[in-house]
Amino acid sequence: MTQIHQHRFIAEVVVTCDTENSVYAPGIVDIEDGRIHWVGSKEDAPDTSSTTKEYDVGGLLMPGLVNAHCHTPMTLLRGVGDGLPLQRWLTEAMWPREGLMTSEDVWWGMTFGSAEMLQSGVTTSCEMYLFEEAVVDAAQQTGARLVMTPVVISESNRNFKEHITDLIHLYERHHDPAGRTTVGVAAHSAYDLGIDPVAELAGLARSLDTTLHLHLAETQEESADLERKFGQSITRILYDNGVFDGRVLAAHSVWVDRSDIELMAEGEVAVAHCPVSNMKLGAGIAPLVDLRAAGVTVGYGTDGPASNDSLDLWEEVKIAPLLARVKALESTAITASETLAMATREGAAAVGLHDTGSLEVGNAADMIRVDLEQSTFVPVTSPDELIAHLAWSGSNRLVTDVWVAGKQVVVGGEVQTVDTERARAQVQERARRLAGS
Ligand SMILES: [Zn+2]
Repeated sequence: MTQIHQHRFIAEVVVTCDTENSVYAPGIVDIEDGRIHWVGSKEDAPDTSSTTKEYDVGGLLMPGLVNAHCHTPMTLLRGVGDGLPLQRWLTEAMWPREGLMTSEDVWWGMTFGSAEMLQSGVTTSCEMYLFEEAVVDAAQQTGARLVMTPVVISESNRNFKEHITDLIHLYERHHDPAGRTTVGVAAHSAYDLGIDPVAELAGLARSLDTTLHLHLAETQEESADLERKFGQSITRILYDNGVFDGRVLAAHSVWVDRSDIELMAEGEVAVAHCPVSNMKLGAGIAPLVDLRAAGVTVGYGTDGPASNDSLDLWEEVKIAPLLARVKALESTAITASETLAMATREGAAAVGLHDTGSLEVGNAADMIRVDLEQSTFVPVTSPDELIAHLAWSGSNRLVTDVWVAGKQVVVGGEVQTVDTERARAQVQERARRLAGS
């Protein structure tokens, strides 16, 4: 029997999401050892050998989406405290339940949410949560790509030192840029931890050559005490304390003005823009156009499923440009290809990954197939219209097949790596316990 070394996928359209926005119709993606070996138009494709297996998949192939900011195990808390003001939502609905969570709860919450993301075409998520070992283990089993940033938070049964020791151990065990898991450092926020601990965690991230992930300027009031004390904006305070001296992923960044944005652009600060969560919690509208204009890398995040409540990043793909256009009163703000780039290539860069997020030679084969038979994808009279359909009509319903590092994890809309019925039952039962009912 011939040993298969290469897998050739032939599609009606290949949308690469590379910097040139290359589209090939019909197109081909060749995969070898979990990486993209060749991509281009069918007529230019190199000859195959006897060790190549061909799949005529039809439809549209594009890179998997990147969820740049998430607390996926909060699937256990989806819908809880809906409609409460933010502070009451946190203190009365979220934290009491999170205080009861076990590592097994988190494992099931992550497994269930990871399956939901894979099914909607999200191949990578950047997670900020506790019980980090359980999150890593769950993602390794679902087959998803994971950037794990264990969160240091003031309400914790570990002290600061223990957090740091655990973090370094996790990094040593699981940080594997060539594989599917990388590890970063997360400081919940300056308003929760104070400035010095955040600066110390930033230093730790720099010493490990990894990303510091934090919540920044989500609401207008959250940092009022610090801002009064220092007489400056929270962004300027963090900058002055060296927090932006290394790679930073700042979730939200809603309440940043032009001079804050300049400080972010000066350092390597990327933003995880979470428009649906910001709208649901009434936090505000992040200055997406200004951030991009200043050269800040921006990706999209769903935020936790308790504040969204979906993990379907296609909603951010549509809503982020809609919101930016409403804010700017300008229909040209954020194009269809720009919103797709933020959900893919730029999202990957934001979370510190440079070999996923686009279908390019050498990148990991993180790829999804989108069904083109749906009415919202008709008609197509030019490639631009197809990109517009993806941006405005893209949805989890259209994703039929998903590969991560060349391994197919969703087939015909069904996740192959998770017993979804069992996960659903587990999450339902555990959520009841956490609710005390
Ligand atoms: Zn968050």
